[in-house]
Amino acid sequence: MAKCGKQLDTPLGIFGGTFDPIHNGHIFPTLEAAKITSINKIALTPCFIPSHKNAATASSQQRLRMVKEVCKDYPVFYPEPLDINRNKPTYSVDTLSELRAKFPNTPLCFFIGTDSLISIFKWHKWQNLFELCHFVVCIRNGEAVYNQVGSAEDQLMLNNLLQQRQVQDPINLHKALAGHIYMANTSPLNISSSVIRRMLSTNQSVEKLVPTSVNQYLRQHKLYQQGSKL
Ligand code: ATP
Repeated sequence: MAKCGKQLDTPLGIFGGTFDPIHNGHIFPTLEAAKITSINKIALTPCFIPSHKNAATASSQQRLRMVKEVCKDYPVFYPEPLDINRNKPTYSVDTLSELRAKFPNTPLCFFIGTDSLISIFKWHKWQNLFELCHFVVCIRNGEAVYNQVGSAEDQLMLNNLLQQRQVQDPINLHKALAGHIYMANTSPLNISSSVIRRMLSTNQSVEKLVPTSVNQYLRQHKLYQQGSKL
């Protein structure tokens, strides 16, 4: 693990996603995990999506705008547009390398859902990520992570990874720059952006699934409403 002799700064959380759109399933588990781990600042980093990729997606600027609304509502978050500004497909290893260069003495804690943890072996340069950050994993869909793993090989890799890197006490995230995995026992919220897009495309209300400010923005800009290929 990347340990450091000198006193480290307080950890910075990073929560990256497509956020197409950002929803309560992103926000509440992350806030809960931040409380458990005593992390009081989290960068929300919407990833870049080429604007022509899918007519059903909101533009980078629209997704960023919704993220900014959430940051106004919940000041623990701040908007970090570095992936959007890079203007090419996002790899978390690039995001984290940029943040590591900017914050050399700060433990970086990347927040993900359990679905992302089980697919981590497919991430670009995934081993390098553990040199750059810790992972804080929020429960998604109420299932234990082991029940979601696909192949036996992936299961074995995940077991090994957790055996090497999982910590039970979140204080460890404050004592090293990178390298740990902390499984936060957050309350599951079964919400996804794809369901929200589908609901909006058939004119259903999503007001219980997103913050009021985001709902207002979605309605005002008629996002995902018609002619969308979902
Ligand atoms: P889509 O439905 O379009 O695939 P999504 O809802 O999964 O989108 P993303 O922006 O792709 O949202 O997810 C970003 C991160 O948020 C990922 O790490 C994912 O695991 C996590 N996440 C998304 N929804 C939830 C949820 N309901 N509970 C916990 N984590 C979540």
